[in-house]
Amino acid sequence: MKEIVVAIGGNPNSGKTTIFNELTGSRQKVGNWGGVTVEKKEGVVDYGGYSIVFVDLPGTYSLSAYSMEEIIARNFIVYETPDVVIDIIDAGNLERNLYLAVQMIEMGQKNIFVLNMADMAGKKGIDIDREKLGSLLGGPVIFTVGNRGVGISEILETVIHVYEDKDQQSRHIHVAYGNELEEEIKKIQNTVRKDAGLSAQYSTRWLSVKLLENDPDMKEKLNKESGHFASIMKQADKSRKHLSMVFNDAPEDLIADQRYGFISGLLQESVDFKGNVGVDFSQKIDKVLTNKYLGIPVLMFFLWVMFQVTFKVGAFPMNWIEIGVDFISRGLMFILPGGFFRSLLIDGIIGGVGGVAVFLPNILLLFLMISLFEDTGYMARAAFVTDRVMHLIGLHGKSFISMIMGFGCNVTAIMSTRTLENKNDRILTILINPLMSCSARLPVYVLVAGAFFGKSAGNVIFSLYVVGILAALLIGRLFRKTLFRGESEPFVMELPPYRVPTLKSVMIHMWDRSVIFIRKMGKVILVGSIVIWFLGAFPVKKDIANVVPEGEKMQEMISFSFIGRIGRTLEPVFRPLGFSWREGVALLTGFVAKEVIVSTLGVLYNAGEQSGSTGPVDLKMPPHGQSNPVQSAGMNEKDEGRGLGALLKEKSGMTPVSAYAFLIFVLIYTPCLASVVAVKRETGSGKWMTFSIIYQITLAWVMAFLIVKIGGLLAGVLT
Ligand code: GDP
Ligand code: MG
Repeated sequence: MKEIVVAIGGNPNSGKTTIFNELTGSRQKVGNWGGVTVEKKEGVVDYGGYSIVFVDLPGTYSLSAYSMEEIIARNFIVYETPDVVIDIIDAGNLERNLYLAVQMIEMGQKNIFVLNMADMAGKKGIDIDREKLGSLLGGPVIFTVGNRGVGISEILETVIHVYEDKDQQSRHIHVAYGNELEEEIKKIQNTVRKDAGLSAQYSTRWLSVKLLENDPDMKEKLNKESGHFASIMKQADKSRKHLSMVFNDAPEDLIADQRYGFISGLLQESVDFKGNVGVDFSQKIDKVLTNKYLGIPVLMFFLWVMFQVTFKVGAFPMNWIEIGVDFISRGLMFILPGGFFRSLLIDGIIGGVGGVAVFLPNILLLFLMISLFEDTGYMARAAFVTDRVMHLIGLHGKSFISMIMGFGCNVTAIMSTRTLENKNDRILTILINPLMSCSARLPVYVLVAGAFFGKSAGNVIFSLYVVGILAALLIGRLFRKTLFRGESEPFVMELPPYRVPTLKSVMIHMWDRSVIFIRKMGKVILVGSIVIWFLGAFPVKKDIANVVPEGEKMQEMISFSFIGRIGRTLEPVFRPLGFSWREGVALLTGFVAKEVIVSTLGVLYNAGEQSGSTGPVDLKMPPHGQSNPVQSAGMNEKDEGRGLGALLKEKSGMTPVSAYAFLIFVLIYTPCLASVVAVKRETGSGKWMTFSIIYQITLAWVMAFLIVKIGGLLAGVLT
């Protein structure tokens, strides 16, 4: 007869021995675990054509290496590889008992969760959704009353079911530890994978988590078993140090916190305590923040605060930078002789990079707010309260986290989808993320909305964010219905305990994110500005020396330049949208990065505004005064000269309707080259990358076209 080996684990006093006795009757064999005085019991049952061997593991609360019992229990699972592991859980003390269950899940074998003492749980008014709990834990859940033999035969049936891979709920799931820890786990895992022997023997993820926990038993074993011990430990120590520094807490405590977060989320979704919990601080706060009715309004409020802080507080340093950049370019204007080099430096480099640098405070603040959400634990709650909305598009609340992060930067947001396990869910989340309006689009919004909508610029910009979210939901639903049929896989949304974030951790997180933006400024925007300057300055038209006035001469030169030629080629594409060739060129260059749109428009509209120019083409770049919408929307343009906004309004031929269409186009089409690369890397396929580019550009064009048409009709009706 075929043999199935089943280990029975559980907390002390959960009823393990009672159930073991019920299952095996008298066919037991009692001994000791190799060399130690911990009792080992085995029993055999013939059932359904199998000979099922049950092994009663020592009762433990955890599977760390603190006690002999814990080491015995986990060694048995790792080295004896039982076919199935049963975790006996005291259903009346779910939270504490699930801590062991979570660790069993992490070990990766087939699990069955027996919720014993179901009678006690019933008396306490605890109402458990068995299907839901099983689907989230990744293994079947059985209710038993051990001392009355209730549910025992179901255990036997289920063992066979699970063993034969016929159970619907059995699957391997990860406990997600949050971005910061996950990254370190990955790093350790990569060093572990270099040792083929270790990879064969252990779940590399489990091993990496153990090393991050600084598990002495595991370290000792690795020292004996692995030639890579030194390099693995080097990475583990580095990761531990990094985490301790960022969180000001020991990694093993952070891991425990996350496990409890997993349990809180699990219970929140599958168990109704009928008002019997709410004792600890986090649970009390959650009564409000994840409340069925209050949750969404509270989230809306926090998002509102986020944008307020970003714009209102950001306005001050923004002004200083503006003044600084202005000062530098004026200074250089004064010091340097006119000509090619001065034009490149002032118009190309300072104009392009400086025009974007003024938004640095906004962007830093946005990232600061996002870091605060993450580090306090609120972000996890956002996932929870948006879960029902996200289900409309067949996605999970967890995808919402990456959507919020998309307000900061789509590239980091796309990377954050790594915490989603299901591949389809990930790809869908990645595909809709670019619709979340990232901070790089802000400069364009501020410029164009400021120019065309005066006092309502702030509202116009806010509407773009809303349109982005709505579009993401609709497109997500469409894709779910067509490309990714079927429901998303259930998984736990962790509710880690609330923490008061340390200044250090918030700073580090904010900085990590901002560095990406600053680097982009240093590379893409710098190079982009220079290239655009070059394309606008060459080739030089020679035979127009006697054209007057000066302004027309510059226009003629730019129209003769490379960029002018590109623009004319593109014109037919954008004409139906009411954009001039200049906007067309800006949208083209904006494919590289959205800030480049502002730089490009600056080059194209300022040409010839500066009379008495010297050098081949002395193009004046955008003045850095496109201040923020809340503060200065509708404010008159500054003193000297005309701001880019004013030029845009006067020369582009755009109406407010086509200007809004332009903004919508900017919102919807491909955010930047880096995001394209991120889509490819994270979906692992050039196919999805190509698809995303095509759908974004098509959708952008169609939406802009509709706005122009509908807007035109409305304008006709109203006038
Ligand atoms: P172990 O430490 O996990 O081996 O737990 P035991 O099997 O020794 O059980 C601990 C106590 O709980 C014993 O007194 C059992 O009779 C009792 N017990 C076991 N299962 C149940 C159950 O389902 N309901 C109730 N009310 N008591 C149970
Ligand atoms: Mg016992």
